[in-house]
Amino acid sequence: MNNLTSTQLRSLWTKFYKSKKHAIISSASLIPENDPTVLFTTAGMHPLVPYLMGAPHPSGKRLANVQKCVRTGDIDEVGDSSHCTFFEMLGNWSLGDYFKKEQIAWSFEFLTDKKYLGLDKDRLAVSVFEGDKDAPKDTESAGIWESLGIPRERIFYLPKANNWWGPAGQTGPCGPDTEMFIDFKNPCNAKCSPACDCGNYLEIWNDVFMQYFKTADGIFEPLKNKNVDTGMGLERTLCILQGKKSVYETDVFVPIIAQVEKLSGKKYSDSDDITKAMRIIADHVRTSVFMIGDGVAPSNVDQGYVLRRLLRRAIRYLKKLEVDFGAITKIAAEVIKVYKSAYIELKEQQAKIIDEIKKEEERFEKTLATGLKEFDKLCGYLQGDTISGKAAFRLYDTFGFPLEITVELAAEKGLKVNEEDFYVRFKEHQQKSQAGAEQKFKGGLADNSEATSRLHSATHLMHRALKDVLKDDGVAQKGSNITAERLRFDFSFNRPVTKDELALVEAQVNNAIKANAAIEFTEMTVDEALKMGAIGLFSAKYGEKVKVYTMGSHSIEICGGPHAATTGELGEFKIIKEESSSAGVRRIKAVLK
Ligand code: ATP
Ligand code: MG
Repeated sequence: MNNLTSTQLRSLWTKFYKSKKHAIISSASLIPENDPTVLFTTAGMHPLVPYLMGAPHPSGKRLANVQKCVRTGDIDEVGDSSHCTFFEMLGNWSLGDYFKKEQIAWSFEFLTDKKYLGLDKDRLAVSVFEGDKDAPKDTESAGIWESLGIPRERIFYLPKANNWWGPAGQTGPCGPDTEMFIDFKNPCNAKCSPACDCGNYLEIWNDVFMQYFKTADGIFEPLKNKNVDTGMGLERTLCILQGKKSVYETDVFVPIIAQVEKLSGKKYSDSDDITKAMRIIADHVRTSVFMIGDGVAPSNVDQGYVLRRLLRRAIRYLKKLEVDFGAITKIAAEVIKVYKSAYIELKEQQAKIIDEIKKEEERFEKTLATGLKEFDKLCGYLQGDTISGKAAFRLYDTFGFPLEITVELAAEKGLKVNEEDFYVRFKEHQQKSQAGAEQKFKGGLADNSEATSRLHSATHLMHRALKDVLKDDGVAQKGSNITAERLRFDFSFNRPVTKDELALVEAQVNNAIKANAAIEFTEMTVDEALKMGAIGLFSAKYGEKVKVYTMGSHSIEICGGPHAATTGELGEFKIIKEESSSAGVRRIKAVLK
């Protein structure tokens, strides 16, 4: 087994897939472009959905990359040995090109060949789809694993819940997967399998084979163009290669945890509680740094709210370790140091990242101060010696006052807190907010309907018009979110846009619509696109190929699509709202009538 650093593992991954004739593409932003169904990019396949659905990718049919991912749904697992809210996914894709035979052989080669990871094949176990009424048992994948030398007893057949990818309950592409695990040879009982959560098996890589299309009648038709989508967790793989107990002891985390140790004067290994607190702090600060690096600012909605909660939770855990306010930026600086050579955006935005975190910490400090006043008031009214769950929950919900602080302060005054009642209310609240959150996390497949395509084209025209009307070089797209009903567009600009200016923007867009220009795209390198004056939010690096959409002389923008065929199809463009989104960022909502 090769003891690799994170830098070595990233470059070995791209080297391996280059040798298999793959184009290496950049990591997309953590904020999905044009997909309102999810808040964050959760896997390498996510930004590639249009191409997995059949659109030709400018870089070809074989792609690989290292993708930044955020999974807020894993937050309760953070602090265990293998889950983080942010992680890097090593991925490769076949868009209607190679399939199971090549992919499984390559997975085996990358994992076991001494030139790559050099893992002993006896430490590997794999799972394949066991088959059901919709689709047959994946004996093909199992046969390939066996031919490569994985013995039958370490090939596990598991049901859809474990080994199937596809939109649940929806129509669309889907298929079986095969997952690769490290077998720690310490099964909990004779029936232990990778489906068991005793910890004996650690999933490191997942190869998805999109081979069926689920029709509206619930039939699984074989796809003509079959795709492969794989994802391997960088941190988990490092944990195995570096022989560590958890991802938090690998080289990407060591300097960050060391900084927390220094600031707190405590040791990571002092107690289980301290280990867990330090893992949570390191994870949350790391995720926050990457989010801000991709343009998120703390707020009370959507991505900004997730960021706010991560930062505040990290600060709370720092308090538990008796670290004073002002320390979190030092941890953030350490995160940037670890990643700045692999992720240039962190280096470029270092000052902004630190500043946003500092400001959020100050806001939280103030909130805590108001909460303290409220706490004193409450004690003044109190009859008896117990603070009710309702009052404790109000302190939490309205003043951002964590329960443990209420309990500590109460104890100082010889008071108790009805914690049980607090948790009942807390749970109720969580269920309510999770119902909303799950709506947003469930997504995956972008909406390619005609209505969204038209609004997407309108967004390009409006982007151009905003730059022209506001005559400001600082006008730059910060984000966009399109549903079938409306478009939402965030851009940098440091004052409200006036009514007259909005009318001019509308007029320019409607003129472009009247001109009925053809909407066409050409593929070229980023450098060529920029030379032509293309605008747009994109994450490709210089030299990399991108799609450039033109709408006559009315717009030229780097973008993946989808779009309408002509501007004439768009109908009438109307701005319905202009407001502030965050400091220095305006938000416009508009519709097509
Ligand atoms: P698990 O069941 O262990 O949470 P998963 O099924 O959610 O894993 P996939 O969606 O298949 O994982 O993601 C592909 C790979 O990404 C996994 O094999 C793993 O190596 C890595 N991965 C997934 N979630 C996380 C996470 N929260 N933190 C770190 N790595 C992760
Ligand atoms: Mg998971």
